[in-house]
Amino acid sequence: MEGSITTPSELERLLAFRRKVHLLVAVGACALTAGVNSLVRGERRQVMTRVYAGQADEWDTFPPQAVDHFVKVDAQIPGCPPEKSELLNSLGTLLHGGWPGHQVMPVCMECRINENPCLLERDRAPCLGPVTLAGCNAKCPNLGVPCEGCRGVVAEANRDELCRLFLTAGLTDQEIRHRLDRFGETL
Ligand code: SF4
Ligand code: SF4
Repeated sequence: MEGSITTPSELERLLAFRRKVHLLVAVGACALTAGVNSLVRGERRQVMTRVYAGQADEWDTFPPQAVDHFVKVDAQIPGCPPEKSELLNSLGTLLHGGWPGHQVMPVCMECRINENPCLLERDRAPCLGPVTLAGCNAKCPNLGVPCEGCRGVVAEANRDELCRLFLTAGLTDQEIRHRLDRFGETL
């Protein structure tokens, strides 16, 4: 299952799908965390009007939700987009009756292994690497771009410490909240 759930008809299809399948795999950031779509929480009506103008009211939608908000998810393949190797390995393992392994370390670990300068320390950039699940080989920091958290929250993420680091980097409370909002209740 890909994508977030944002309309009653999508929800109906999801529920019907769950009833039919033995194994449900959520693939990609939108399915796992509601992804980019969920970043417009709060200003939804304004965005709908901007995109659909006079037809905005014709769309029956609700704020985007992750798939596991509604149904049991058996396995997850994170990322935006998912890493090709992880996708193939996970699906291959499932098809052979196994269970895909998953990362337990944060993006920072991969970033350090790659000997990148830390963007949070050096540039005071609001990088989400400390709380984000590794597995992308620190793709964004490798290019000098702060992590946006697309792979979701790593186990044992230290929210308080990240907030402290962001405050030290000069972010306001509101900026920090907006930054962490994308993880919803998972962080
Ligand atoms: S740049 Fe980001 S991912 Fe890399 S070490 Fe610093 S905080 Fe972690
Ligand atoms: S560095 Fe962060 S935003 Fe970039 S691909 Fe990896 S998890 Fe996603």
